[in-house]
Amino acid sequence: MLHEVMQACLSSGNWEDSWIDERIEEVVRMGLADLIKINIGVDQAKREVKMRAKGLREFSQKYIAEIPKVCPNRARSLLCTDQIYLQPKAILTNTRSGHNQTSLLAISELHNVEEDIWSPTYGLKGKLDATVQAVISDPNPPFPRTITSGPQPLEIKTGRAVAGMEHRAQTMLYTLLTAERYGVEVPSGLLYYTQSEEVVRVPAIRNELRGLIGARNEMAGYMVNRTRKSEPRNVDEQAQNRDLEDGPAVHSFLPPTINDERVCNRCYALDICMLYRKVSMPPHYLVSLLLNKILIQAVENVIDTNSPIADTYELKTVHLTPPQTSFFKKWEALLALEEQDLVRFKKELWTMGASEREAKGRCFSFMVIDPSHRLTQPKTSGSRDNKIHQFTYRFVRAGGGAPAASLLNGHMSEGDAITVSVEPDLLALARGFIVELTPVAVVVGVDHELSLDTITSRLAALRNSRTVVQVIFRIDKDELFGGMGRIRDNLAQLFYANGDTRRLELVVDLKSPVFDDTDPTTAAPSPALAQYSAHLNPNQRQAMSKVLTAHDYSLILGMPGTGKTTVIATIIKTLVRMGKTVLLTSYTHSAVDTILLKLKDDADFGILRLGNVDKVWSFNGVSLFSEFLIHCGMMVHRFTLTCRDLRSRRGERQIQSSSWSTSS
Ligand code: SF4
Repeated sequence: MLHEVMQACLSSGNWEDSWIDERIEEVVRMGLADLIKINIGVDQAKREVKMRAKGLREFSQKYIAEIPKVCPNRARSLLCTDQIYLQPKAILTNTRSGHNQTSLLAISELHNVEEDIWSPTYGLKGKLDATVQAVISDPNPPFPRTITSGPQPLEIKTGRAVAGMEHRAQTMLYTLLTAERYGVEVPSGLLYYTQSEEVVRVPAIRNELRGLIGARNEMAGYMVNRTRKSEPRNVDEQAQNRDLEDGPAVHSFLPPTINDERVCNRCYALDICMLYRKVSMPPHYLVSLLLNKILIQAVENVIDTNSPIADTYELKTVHLTPPQTSFFKKWEALLALEEQDLVRFKKELWTMGASEREAKGRCFSFMVIDPSHRLTQPKTSGSRDNKIHQFTYRFVRAGGGAPAASLLNGHMSEGDAITVSVEPDLLALARGFIVELTPVAVVVGVDHELSLDTITSRLAALRNSRTVVQVIFRIDKDELFGGMGRIRDNLAQLFYANGDTRRLELVVDLKSPVFDDTDPTTAAPSPALAQYSAHLNPNQRQAMSKVLTAHDYSLILGMPGTGKTTVIATIIKTLVRMGKTVLLTSYTHSAVDTILLKLKDDADFGILRLGNVDKVWSFNGVSLFSEFLIHCGMMVHRFTLTCRDLRSRRGERQIQSSSWSTSS
């Protein structure tokens, strides 16, 4: 939240206390869903963010300027304007330089916030908090002597630790991304620590960068193993590979654990790391374990009695039974298989030209922005009601030899997630969704501005030419918008030491669900409820009865056309009549909307539709749910309602429906 407040300040240039307070109110309100997850109240969140934001104004007074500001006693002998003369000193710490060797910093311009940069050259991706024009000067006379001036990544850190290794590594890698996106050399990056109110310069040191890229390559080497199946040695192994009970045969896809008690016990990934250690072990790690006299029962079940993390490992995994580890392994492997399919398409953006990909129906090549289309102006800074759809552009084919094929010929349609790139230099400049598609034009809603002036100057720098170029875009279908991360995390949550034990019992251990003896629709006090099921056939009524008597869950299985949607709609109406609130959710938006369409005409209660507004059902651009459609952010699925809104609507909105798909 503090990141968003600071990004809003940088974007607007407004650092007034009252304005910052308003932004804090706004981001806390918009982050309601996240607050619920971590069980923090709105007031507490506001207090916390305000406390951490108290240095923002001073940050601006120190660092936002055309040239670095100096304090009076250093500037007295220098030729400075009065304005500079009175300002505090804009010190930039460099933890790698010698004693007392500091420099001065001015941030003279903001280039972008939350820039998503993909680098095919280095095989890296990163989302930069901000990219700023940094002017760095030597503090010693004669002042000002500029050491460097140019775009640099600025990372905002809210913790206490200053310039830890991981922060430095991240910032250093971001210098590579910035250089690739801006076409200039980027000698350093900046880290701003909000608690110590310190800005640290992180020089891009060649040898360290080489080490980081080496580590990246090593990690990538492991991850590639995930897609490499072991060659079966005989027919038995062939059969075994086909049987997913034990997961497909794959090489180790994670590096060995580092077994450092201090580091591992403070690691944010400890739970998941230990879980994977329990269910799969890299073959070469078996050797190192044996050398360290660690006992191994089987590849899938390490017994670690004397490594430095043995106690932690025991604590995190001792509760897992063999069937549970098999379950995790099987479903993790299935997720990986599905991911491979998505990654296969994703890779094409890096490896295929736009025309080649268009032939496969997954890209619009040779596109230009239609200047006659009125652009949606960016929301006021700090607004989070739709972080993805900030700008709207209409693209048409470029003239002069452009392919004449209809845009409707491929596999792209309204609501699809897309990336907008300029081939080959600027990949994934903006991401968003197709809002409208006709044979000759596509309208997209995206997260970043596509300024032709900025893009032209960057292309000139990247291509080492001053020639004014026509900016030709490619629009690619983004296959892995949401990814499998959340699904994998949900799966893992079942198996953690303090995880979701109730669902573990029901879903993994297959504990039988419990049902009441009496169906409430036929019970004496509530005969009126029976009217809702009067139109159902006996099988449908039986299914409905099972659902209404379930304590845990009830599954309805039916062939297409057997009336499942009708049963679900009837169940919803009955439950609402019983005074209950219903959450209707599905893997796809269309499945949710199909049921809502059934309810639309005769429901006498309110419905709160949560979802990406560009993907919710509409006809000729008009949403049928417009009167009760609540628009929330796409990727992060944030509520746009205030707490008060939600409270006041609790009584009137009795169905909450939402859809989570890989692209929601
Ligand atoms: S817990 Fe796992 S991921 Fe974390 S530091 Fe240790 S070995 Fe690395």
